[in-house]
Amino acid sequence: MQNLDVTIVGAGSAGLTLALLLAELGLTIAVIERGAAPELATPVYQRVSALNPASMRVLSKLSVWQGIAAQAAPYSQMQVWEADSFGRIAFSAEPPQLPELGWICDNEAIRQQLYVKVQQQAAIQCYFNVEISQLAQTERDVLVQLNNGQILLSQLLVGADGVNSFVRQQQQLPLTHWDYNQQAIVAVIACEEAHQASARQAFLASGPLALLPLPDANLCSIVWSADTDRAEALMALDDNAFNQALTAASQSVLGCLTLQSARQAFPLKMRYASEWVRGRVVLVADAAHSIHPLAGQGMNLGLMDVAALAQILGSQLTAGKPLYEARALLAYQRWRKAEAQSMIATMEAFKRGFSNDLAPLKLLRGVGLVLADKLPGVKQKLMAAALGNSGDLPEIAKY
Ligand SMILES: Cc1cc2nc3c(=O)[nH]c(=O)nc-3n(C[C@H](O)[C@H](O)[C@H](O)COP(=O)(O)OP(=O)(O)OC[C@H]3O[C@@H](n4cnc5c(N)ncnc54)[C@H](O)[C@@H]3O)c2cc1C
Repeated sequence: MQNLDVTIVGAGSAGLTLALLLAELGLTIAVIERGAAPELATPVYQRVSALNPASMRVLSKLSVWQGIAAQAAPYSQMQVWEADSFGRIAFSAEPPQLPELGWICDNEAIRQQLYVKVQQQAAIQCYFNVEISQLAQTERDVLVQLNNGQILLSQLLVGADGVNSFVRQQQQLPLTHWDYNQQAIVAVIACEEAHQASARQAFLASGPLALLPLPDANLCSIVWSADTDRAEALMALDDNAFNQALTAASQSVLGCLTLQSARQAFPLKMRYASEWVRGRVVLVADAAHSIHPLAGQGMNLGLMDVAALAQILGSQLTAGKPLYEARALLAYQRWRKAEAQSMIATMEAFKRGFSNDLAPLKLLRGVGLVLADKLPGVKQKLMAAALGNSGDLPEIAKY
């Protein structure tokens, strides 16, 4: 039997980041993962995330950012426009204070770099390729039995086990969800014209298409969210027909686009747990909420969750209080639920606002985008949100 301070279920970006943050507080941690351990490999950029400067600051302070940045593509421009309309808005980095707006990172490379650091921490024990066969909590601790027979006892258990969280289900934490009725198609594509370190997003009537720059000047990652019928039809096309459809949808902004990898489609759902805490069990990141990828904020939101949880647990220890106190976990829940709710509402407004093809609405959107582009106050607010600098940031994510 192992006695620990915290057990984390899930070794994704959120779970591994939390393990490192908690190790810095002097805690002992177990990470349980049902998949294999991340292995260092050259990134293929099939699954990428746009990380914002707030996430970068968290990962920098944990000394993992350098390794991630070495394989990421920084972008200094962002262009958003509505297809077949005059509406557009553009954001630019402002060196030297703001040299980049964000970085397109390979998801697996993020995990690999986090895991390299985790392996250097004696306080963190990882269990890969295991399933939980029993999870039970008493007033004093949480017991986890693994399918290899091992038993872990800890003061706190964190569910960082993604959108279909076992922990959330096992603890019967209620979930609100709805279907966006869209699928996101992701792939690596070659573009005829260099992307010039600009992230682009076109709002089409059937959903947004993002062209995200990769380290090679003529390669991008696409996230093409389309209504389910349209997405299924796009997935059924042969490569040539798909390339033509993609180039047309992008309005040839980067010339001809051609697939360089297989396509993968992800059904898109909003999920939001209305309770994130049950006794000594707490949810973070995708286990607590998942949102539409149109603004590339899911992983950023999850990293802020774990930074907030670590901050609250750190304050408990500094004040000489026990690691577990219901009041502290509820403070975490209040804090991060407010941030997640506001992100969900924004994504919903964008999704609904841009998926209606009525002429007056299209005109209004065009005017709105042009105005937002011209009015400094509005643009600054949008920029702060995109950079992850708005809202109630955990200390470690601040400048
Ligand atoms: C198409 C698409 C594009 C996206 N683009 C962006 C973007 O540009 N920017 C951004 O910030 N976000 C983006 N996101 C969101 C981002 O990918 C997720 O928010 C993020 O990966 C979630 O991290 P996580 O650690 O919470 O979960 P995960 O990465 O899902 O990790 C969960 C881990 O838990 C493990 N696990 C699951 N169940 C168990 C169990 N029972 N026992 C043990 N282990 C378990 C899993 O194997 C996994 O390793 C995008 C999402 C999609 C679908």
